[in-house]
Amino acid sequence: MGQITIVGASLSGLSAASWLSNNGFRVKVFERGSGIGHFRGQDFQVIRNYGADKGFCDSLKDYKIDIKHKQPINKIIKYAPSGRTMEVVANGNPLFFVIKRGKSPLSLDSQIFNSINKNNLDLELNKTVNVLSGDIVATGPVLRNVFGVGYVFEGVDVNPEEIHLFMDNKYAPNGYIYVAPFGKDTLCIAAVSFDATFELKMLLDRFLEKNEVVQELITNYSKKETFSGYGYCNYPETAEIDGKLFVGAAAGFVEAARGFGVKYAILSGLLAAESILTGKSYDSLWKGSFGNELKDSLYRHFLLSELTDSQYERLLSEEKVSVKEYKKIPSGLADLYKSIRFSQELKNWQNQYSLHKLF
Ligand SMILES: Cc1cc2nc3c(=O)[nH]c(=O)nc-3n(C[C@H](O)[C@H](O)[C@H](O)COP(=O)(O)OP(=O)(O)OC[C@H]3O[C@@H](n4cnc5c(N)ncnc54)[C@H](O)[C@@H]3O)c2cc1C
Repeated sequence: MGQITIVGASLSGLSAASWLSNNGFRVKVFERGSGIGHFRGQDFQVIRNYGADKGFCDSLKDYKIDIKHKQPINKIIKYAPSGRTMEVVANGNPLFFVIKRGKSPLSLDSQIFNSINKNNLDLELNKTVNVLSGDIVATGPVLRNVFGVGYVFEGVDVNPEEIHLFMDNKYAPNGYIYVAPFGKDTLCIAAVSFDATFELKMLLDRFLEKNEVVQELITNYSKKETFSGYGYCNYPETAEIDGKLFVGAAAGFVEAARGFGVKYAILSGLLAAESILTGKSYDSLWKGSFGNELKDSLYRHFLLSELTDSQYERLLSEEKVSVKEYKKIPSGLADLYKSIRFSQELKNWQNQYSLHKLF
């Protein structure tokens, strides 16, 4: 079998390397960092697990990737600006898993790295190469349109199965604030926005000063660290440029409503490998797998950016909903959602963030 070159040894590049190396290909991976898991963002992240019939993590077993070290999240508590809450509850499968990132042995990056057939791997660290020099481009964001800033608090005492999500244009314009636990004693509080004109950190600090729910959660914390980062969301017409397969955040495979990209990084890496192994079109594979989800997130992105605080209040009018109801577009917003599909605004956005503008 031949040799495939991959640029980037994070989730998408490592997933591609795993499936190719386990199917007899030699894989050469270039990574500019000093180790795998060089991703600079926060220490732990959430993987969306709902949506598919089979939970996302379980579906990876088909590719011989077994993610053992993960914490289940079974409830989302959403807050409207007035403080009114709506709970979203799991129906069997956890809604999310919280995982560690980075190079520690239990991180998601390390767990995927462990599944690679090392006999077929040639990993070159501290090596920055031209993005287009690989057969697979797994370099992370090549453009920026989602921004995040947050804190990790250690030494807290919280429910490890609940995520809190705050929708409030005052503190999180064109975005949201989330609070995610990692076990009982660590909490991440972050603001995400799709608009770079706001001073996100200042808004988040003000939110932390004012919000009583959050203040109670972080009472008695012993250590606080800050992080920030950016991402690139896109729905490319094609993720194959000059025969190079763009995977993960390099292609813009990040949910445009929430900024989640872990799931699509892993899936697109595996599907790029699948395309090389079988000769099937890469575009058909990723579009068939998560294309609709990605498109839906793009429409929701525009929908959410239009919502006023009073619409948030109406959106969160139920006290408790199942995840199935949560995914539905409320009837009052259905027309707006439909009109976004054909809007000039969407076309302009897609032009502005097109991969073809760069390469
Ligand atoms: C602050 C923040 C919080 C986030 N939280 C979540 C979350 O909770 N849930 C979620 O699903 N998603 C989250 N995301 C998005 C998620 O982290 C990304 O979508 C995911 O990491 C993309 O993986 P990737 O492998 O495609 O790229 P990356 O993880 O960005 O990795 C790219 C790799 O390529 C290497 N590289 C880059 N250029 C070169 C070069 N020229 N030569 C050699 N190597 C190179 C880099 O060093 C890096 O190791 C978050 C993003 C940020 C910034």
